[in-house]
Amino acid sequence: MTTPARFSKASGRVTLIEMIIFPLYILLIASCLRWAVHRYGWRGGVGRFILVFVVLPFVPFALGLLASAIYWGMPSYPACRAGKCRQFNYQRRVLEKGGHALFCGCGAPYRKRGRRFYEVQPDGSIRPYMVWRAFRGWFPDG
Ligand SMILES: [Zn+2]
Repeated sequence: MTTPARFSKASGRVTLIEMIIFPLYILLIASCLRWAVHRYGWRGGVGRFILVFVVLPFVPFALGLLASAIYWGMPSYPACRAGKCRQFNYQRRVLEKGGHALFCGCGAPYRKRGRRFYEVQPDGSIRPYMVWRAFRGWFPDG
C-alpha cells in the first residue's frame, strides 16, 4: 500500500505546521481506515476510505473551480444582436428615461443582470437576449 508521504514531497518544503499536522493526518486516516474496514469489511471499507479521503477533499476544490468557472468571464458581454460588436465595444451610458444601459457600437441598448444579458426595448422594458453558462459561454436566452 502506498503511503500519502508522496504528497508532502510534491509540495517541496515541509513547514513546521505540516510536520505537526501530517502525522496527525496519517493517524486520522489510519484510524478511519481501520474503523471503516472493521465496519464495512475490507472492500467496502477501502471504498469508503477512498471516497472520504480522496474524493471529499476534492469537493471544495471542485466547487471553487466551478464557482470561478461560473463567474469567469462574467464581466464580459456577448456579441450584440447585429453580431458586429464584441465585449469591448459596449459602453455604459445614461438612458433618456433614466437609469443606465450598455450601448454597443451600433447604438443598441442592453442591460446585464447577473448571468443574463437583456435587450432594452424602445419602451424601456427588457427582453432576454443571452445567458451565460458555465464552461460554455453565452447562449441565446428565452
Ligand atoms: Zn453592435
